[in-house]
Amino acid sequence: MKRVVAAGLAGVVVLAAILWAVVWFSPSAQDALMRRVVAANIGGNEAVLNEDALHVVLCGTGSPMPDPDRAQACAIVYAGGKVFVVDSGLGGWDRLARFQLPVGGLTGILLTHFHSDHISGIPDIALNSWASGRREALTVYGPPGVETVVAGFDLAYSLDDGYRIAHHGPDFFAEEGADYQPVVVDVPDRNTSVVVFDEGGVKVTAFRVSHEPVDPAYGYRIDYKGRSVVFSGDTKRDANIATFGKDADVLIHEALAAHMVGMLEEGLEHQGDRRAKVMHDIPDYHATPVQAAESANEAGVSLLVYTHIVPRLPNAIAERVFLRGVADVRGERVLLGYDGLYLELPAGSEEIVEHDLR
Ligand SMILES: [Zn+2]
Ligand SMILES: [Zn+2]
Repeated sequence: MKRVVAAGLAGVVVLAAILWAVVWFSPSAQDALMRRVVAANIGGNEAVLNEDALHVVLCGTGSPMPDPDRAQACAIVYAGGKVFVVDSGLGGWDRLARFQLPVGGLTGILLTHFHSDHISGIPDIALNSWASGRREALTVYGPPGVETVVAGFDLAYSLDDGYRIAHHGPDFFAEEGADYQPVVVDVPDRNTSVVVFDEGGVKVTAFRVSHEPVDPAYGYRIDYKGRSVVFSGDTKRDANIATFGKDADVLIHEALAAHMVGMLEEGLEHQGDRRAKVMHDIPDYHATPVQAAESANEAGVSLLVYTHIVPRLPNAIAERVFLRGVADVRGERVLLGYDGLYLELPAGSEEIVEHDLR
């Protein structure tokens, strides 16, 4: 019996070696394989376009700190045929493409504030939504200052836009698609929210959060068919999350583990690295995982998802340290967000279906 198994195994190994050799040395076999791979990677997650649900995908859960596993701030929401990207940091487009998410019908970008990790990916989203069929100017909503941000990108990429149109033709790249349409959202004070968009049953509301010296900084709430998601943006612990995020289904809240950043500060200090000062300064305008959990409880949301994770969490132990103390405040319905987390909220139910697009 053992001999038969050994002979069988040897046969499989020989066969695999022959197949490998065929592919390695035969251009036509390589081409056939490439075509199969390409076909498997084109298409998409069209399920997000189903209009009977609110769909939320995280396309960036990192921060300015380099992290091979997390792009900078990015989320995308699909509802009722509308598509909103919430913040657009570096690498967000890479994730959207990798997860095969449609962006041609992009309705607009919602910016919470203008720190680099929330805006550095805008040109990539602009170019690729244009290539995917967007023919009108890209609408970008944000606090006062958004017009300066998009004017800068518009100018910096004006030559590139010209090359694209010249090379592929204006039928493919409609000229208006190269433009930006900034929309200044003016939330007058902390006690007021402002409706940014209300069309086709999709309602987007902006409210103030606390990220001084960045002021104003906004959080956003998106409601559709009785389902809702709230984005905290970057903020320290802020009572406005409970006020304007009241009873939402999902709260996507930023989090910085101050106890871990403190260790980074010590380490850098010890090496005489001047960036210790940055580690010293950043905890005062972000919320800790425990504080975010407190806000989620006050708001009465069904699910809390952490994003904008600081610092990098390279393994399960680091994740455990990051979440230290959270279970004491909120024992369940807490998720550590990751690039590729897709939450589907079907209309007419309380269900939150988690999909992993990685
Ligand atoms: Zn920020
Ligand atoms: Zn940030």
